[in-house]
Amino acid sequence: MSASLDSAAVEVSADGVDGTGPEGLGELCVLMKLGEIVLKGSNRHLFERRLQNNIRAAAKGLADIRISQRRGVIMLRMPDASDIEVAELGERMCNVMGVVWVHLVRRVEKDLDVVTGVAVRSMADRSGTFAVRARRRDKRFPLLSSELAAHVGAAVREANPRLSVDLKKPDNVVHVEVDKDEVFVFTDGMPGQGGLPVGMSGRALVLMSGGIDSPVAAHRMMRRGLKVDFLHFSGMPFTGPESIYKAYSLVRQLDRFQSGSRLYVVPFGKAQQQIKNSGVERLQIVAQRRLMLKTAEALADRLGGAALVTGDALGQVSSQTLTNITALDDAVDLPILRPLIGMDKSEIMDQARRIGTLAISELPDEDCCTMLTPRQVETAAKIPDLRQIEKRLDAEELAEHLANTAQLHRPSFLGAETAEVG
Ligand code: ATP
Ligand code: MG
Repeated sequence: MSASLDSAAVEVSADGVDGTGPEGLGELCVLMKLGEIVLKGSNRHLFERRLQNNIRAAAKGLADIRISQRRGVIMLRMPDASDIEVAELGERMCNVMGVVWVHLVRRVEKDLDVVTGVAVRSMADRSGTFAVRARRRDKRFPLLSSELAAHVGAAVREANPRLSVDLKKPDNVVHVEVDKDEVFVFTDGMPGQGGLPVGMSGRALVLMSGGIDSPVAAHRMMRRGLKVDFLHFSGMPFTGPESIYKAYSLVRQLDRFQSGSRLYVVPFGKAQQQIKNSGVERLQIVAQRRLMLKTAEALADRLGGAALVTGDALGQVSSQTLTNITALDDAVDLPILRPLIGMDKSEIMDQARRIGTLAISELPDEDCCTMLTPRQVETAAKIPDLRQIEKRLDAEELAEHLANTAQLHRPSFLGAETAEVG
């Protein structure tokens, strides 16, 4: 029987820490470190509520979770679940925006012997160097952090002679964090996405091609707290449906970061033909992009979107010169967010690989934009010329009509019943 260091705290432990758990290891839980959310002053509870809703949506289909919010961290318990299911929960939490680190932790009672025993077992199969990092969120704990670390460290070393101490650059780290009612013991962590909880910054509509850039742009804006809807223009009826399949798969992949995603698909081929027939020549691409933006604006109005998002990067293709970007901004009243504007293609590709969209984007398709590309593309489009063309086409009405033809899809990463959040 080990001596309790804080028997009062153990006795009143509302969540009932049972000490050793099924295998004497403590209960496996998910501990998450939050980032900027911690700085949010008086709004913090709004962020925390939003984050908790998003956590619940991401945990859909798993056993019931209990969320406990503390300063700068959130703890998730799944008392009825297996360790495998808790590990799955941890993996899903790596995609919840606003979370900086995810740790699978052993939750044990505030008893030095129990804590030490769990720490020793966590290092049983390790070799090389190690360090113990101790921390007290509960300052009433009778041992200082340094004393706790020294005690646990000595025991780990005695139990596993293949380990030696290195406090500066250890191969292995045992973390011991003392909280109000319990102690967390854990080793490695998984990086989260950082940023802010999805939905905290409002709603926007992403113009989503089948290309590499727009999914990365969407991820960046979700990470800053925007809940996003997606709009894809296909070249139908003059192209096959391949680009739609790609957009669908891309949105499904991005749905991991927000859940409840909506993809609208607009067949754009006939409108492109109409633009071409109006004699635009070198202005074809910019005129097309303006019509896409106007259609997006009409749709965003209906969906409550307060901004449009595109994957434009300055100078990457001819429609992305500064003059042409200015001509695109002129087409709509809503702000156009371009999170990739200053990024190199190689940086964007690295990011696409990290978020799991690159391989999908690289699949072949018939992009509607290349379908009617003129031999010479205008790099310095003049706004009055474009407005003139749009007058002839009655572009505002055409955009409203196109928005009406949008077909809704719900590509869901977790399956059909996923709740909408944000
Ligand atoms: P991406 O890799 O995202 O396709 P890109 O480098 O190919 O971008 P463009 O084709 O000029 O560049 O497109 C710039 C932006 O315009 C895209 O990032 C996207 O936001 C929007 N866009 C282009 N084509 C479409 C489309 N078919 N449907 C929806 N949005 C599109
Ligand atoms: Mg493209």
